[in-house]
Amino acid sequence: MRTQVGIVGAGPAGLTLARLLRAEGIESVVLEARSRDYVEHRIRAGVLEQGTVDTLVGAGAGERLRREGIVHHGIGLQFGGERHRVPLSELTGGAAIVIYGQTEIVKDLIAIRLDAGDPLHFEVEDVAVHDVESDRPRITYVHEGRPQELECDLVAGCDGFHGVCREAIPAGVLTEFWREYPYGWLGVLAHAAPAHGEVVYCNTERGFALLSLRSPEVSRLYLQCRPDEDVGEWPDERIWEELEARVAVPGYTLNRGPIAEKGVTGMRSYVAEPMRHGRVFLAGDAAHVHSPVGGQGMNTGIGDAMNLGWKLAATVRGWARPGLLDTYEQERHPVGEMVLRMTDGAYKLVMARTRAGLALR
Ligand SMILES: Cc1cc2nc3c(=O)[nH]c(=O)nc-3n(C[C@H](O)[C@H](O)[C@H](O)COP(=O)(O)OP(=O)(O)OC[C@H]3O[C@@H](n4cnc5c(N)ncnc54)[C@H](O)[C@@H]3O)c2cc1C
Repeated sequence: MRTQVGIVGAGPAGLTLARLLRAEGIESVVLEARSRDYVEHRIRAGVLEQGTVDTLVGAGAGERLRREGIVHHGIGLQFGGERHRVPLSELTGGAAIVIYGQTEIVKDLIAIRLDAGDPLHFEVEDVAVHDVESDRPRITYVHEGRPQELECDLVAGCDGFHGVCREAIPAGVLTEFWREYPYGWLGVLAHAAPAHGEVVYCNTERGFALLSLRSPEVSRLYLQCRPDEDVGEWPDERIWEELEARVAVPGYTLNRGPIAEKGVTGMRSYVAEPMRHGRVFLAGDAAHVHSPVGGQGMNTGIGDAMNLGWKLAATVRGWARPGLLDTYEQERHPVGEMVLRMTDGAYKLVMARTRAGLALR
């Protein structure tokens, strides 16, 4: 089989890239290790920056996002027992953030792709990328029990932190930067009307807490905890009590409701260098992982796809000026590093103010 761009991974980065390539008339095949149901229900990001919204709308994937996304013109910062509002739109000349779950973005992009009849294969196994230094890279994989080989002009590794595309960059060429943080986030999805209309970041002596939402009926809530925290030790009642203790300010009541999901995410930052080797390009979490503290991982991944899409299209068509593909790394690597520094700054602030919170339990 042949395609112009082989894309490994059907997360936000891979699906956005596939959509942008299609808009340029470029064929791609998307290969995903998990089932459609799994990727459509993997609860993660939900805060979209203006650039992400513009990209998705511009790519023709923003119809439901515009209808159902909840626009926030500001955020709350709570510390010292007081809540302060940062008026984002006022400060940025009209830009806003939009609350719309990563699950919904993935569902929208998958539906559009499958409706158009474009290839997207779920539950592929044994994916490996070969010959990336040649002008005919290949992806081998097993689909529905049969070994397959896909010849490509270019390969996009959008397969997240645990993916295989990074392995196509030889040892000695690949440099990796790590930071493991000594805390995690206990994330909760609750069928409870958000009591506050905007996202609120709370810094308290007991540890950090985040009040967020997914819809007018569903709250997304986070508690700072240990990275190896056993979620089994957090019955619903304990979660609500701890949230109340951390987010309480005079006049504010947290609405309670059934908890539909809870899980602990360890915090880690990671950057790989280079983001390109020969004809393989890394985008999204495959190239850089930002701890959810900054709410930037998906936004950065979609930014990568936006930057890469038209450059791959120009290259496949033979229109690219020499060196165009090199600008992907030149432009996106500093963004990855900047986000990392910002997240790290947030980490240091949290650490300085919430040491007591780390000793929970
Ligand atoms: C709790 C939590 C909250 C977050 N909140 C935010 C937020 O508010 N804002 C924000 O911007 N970001 C947030 N993030 C980060 C965001 O979710 C990620 O940055 C985003 O999912 C990255 O998208 P991606 O497409 O690069 O990778 P992924 O979403 O990881 O997708 C990669 C895909 O590749 C597939 N894959 C892996 N290996 C293979 C293989 N060998 N073959 C084929 N397919 C493979 C995977 O199954 C997956 O579907 C959060 C993350 C967490 C954990």
